[in-house]
Amino acid sequence: MSEDNQPTCDHCQQPLGNRYIALERRIDQVRMLSEDDFEHGEPEWGPDADDDWRDEDDGPDLIEGIEPLDAEEVASYCGQACWSVAEADWIERLGLQTPYPEEGVMVPCSRCGAMIDRTQPHVSYNMSDGEFTTDADGNECMMIHEGTCLAVLCNGCEAAEVSEESRLVPETADAVGRDLGC
Ligand SMILES: [Zn+2]
Ligand SMILES: [Zn+2]
Repeated sequence: MSEDNQPTCDHCQQPLGNRYIALERRIDQVRMLSEDDFEHGEPEWGPDADDDWRDEDDGPDLIEGIEPLDAEEVASYCGQACWSVAEADWIERLGLQTPYPEEGVMVPCSRCGAMIDRTQPHVSYNMSDGEFTTDADGNECMMIHEGTCLAVLCNGCEAAEVSEESRLVPETADAVGRDLGC
């Protein structure tokens, strides 16, 4: 990161330190992960802490995992104090009736209340308290101290469109076997 292009807090305009709060607009999709998905280490998107959503009786236990298909940082704040001032503005700007949705597969849209099936791509706004650190090899990485979902929105409120360039995940296996032609 260059010194003279220091990012600043969107509220107080002070330069951001290594630790700051980021608000991200994401396209999320909930996937059911089986134990096998963790065999070679954690998948990129990581499991949701909530593991009470289990598969009934066939196959291994499934864990609900959120797979971000796209993510864009829309704002950043130097700390909790600035975020808590900005929070009300965001809730108003996004027209949220019920911010901070519960976890789960079927949740109401934070704006209009329509039920969202989170296994389908949908827009979400998330804030994360993260810190840039340097690992043993000298690579910068982001350590997330805390992440909170501010809103989930139905496709009627904001369409979950993923552009090809910003797609975060590689082609998945379920693309194979479809489109065999007839
Ligand atoms: Zn600030
Ligand atoms: Zn909606």
